[in-house]
Amino acid sequence: MRVISLGSGSSGNALLIEAGPNGRTRLLVDAGLPCRTLINRLHLADVSPAQILAVLLTHEHNDHTLALPTLLKRYDPLVISDPATLATLVDDSRQESHATTCGKRLTALLPLRRTLALPAGSSCLLGDIEIVSFPVPHDAAAPCGYLLSAGGCRVCVVVDSGSVTPIMLEAMRQADLLVLEANHDRDRLLHGPYTYALKMRILSPTGHLSNEQAAQAILQTWRTDGLRWIWLAHLSQVNNTPQLALRSVQRHLVEAGAALQQVHLATLPRTMGPAWDSTRLWHDEHWWRYETLIER
Ligand SMILES: [Zn+2]
Ligand SMILES: [Zn+2]
Repeated sequence: MRVISLGSGSSGNALLIEAGPNGRTRLLVDAGLPCRTLINRLHLADVSPAQILAVLLTHEHNDHTLALPTLLKRYDPLVISDPATLATLVDDSRQESHATTCGKRLTALLPLRRTLALPAGSSCLLGDIEIVSFPVPHDAAAPCGYLLSAGGCRVCVVVDSGSVTPIMLEAMRQADLLVLEANHDRDRLLHGPYTYALKMRILSPTGHLSNEQAAQAILQTWRTDGLRWIWLAHLSQVNNTPQLALRSVQRHLVEAGAALQQVHLATLPRTMGPAWDSTRLWHDEHWWRYETLIER
């Protein structure tokens, strides 16, 4: 399994997932970048946009769907999400009423024949990848997270969520690579330039996860039986910095007595981010370093 962040943050989100022989099953989780940027970054990952089998949507907000109209027109991938999310993208009139949280709205409608309704809480097999969706709290029609499995590896994606539920924790607990929102530093948000209404929206149980909430979620899903990779995602440009997010999460983990040797923690940039390749990881020296650690 290969996972590459093509962009993360309030300005746009897209994650490339590949699995199977020669990475033959290729998916995007969200496509919230300008289409040209998305295609350029796919090429940097040696992937042609025509090779994308499907786009899994976490929800309909613009920073997760921006490239869809052009992508669909040119390459016709399958669009998979909860039926309520798909309905907001197909039904133009309803989308108008939801435009307030999205900024610019999608103008091109999704052709229904290229959509696959996957109700939050259900699963399906697409090529070499098993997809399990689960509901998350966020102010969208039917926001969800995904647990993706292939070749014995699991990746869990949770972005845009104002609070953490037991269902989310159950999925996160299983992940070898966890992509988790760490949107803001609470103090920085409270004392920052956003309006009171926007601050309240972000802090609400259906807004966005803070660094501290992300750390608490990680601790609640802490595993002592092996290594784990965690990418902190969807960092606010105004209310967070990569250093703040990393320091905050590390501090909470250390204070709770967790061993940082067991986790590879990184923040995702707005630009093209890191790659996680499970086939290479088996040969990674870090893996063996940890084995030595256990034996001592
Ligand atoms: Zn959102
Ligand atoms: Zn978002």
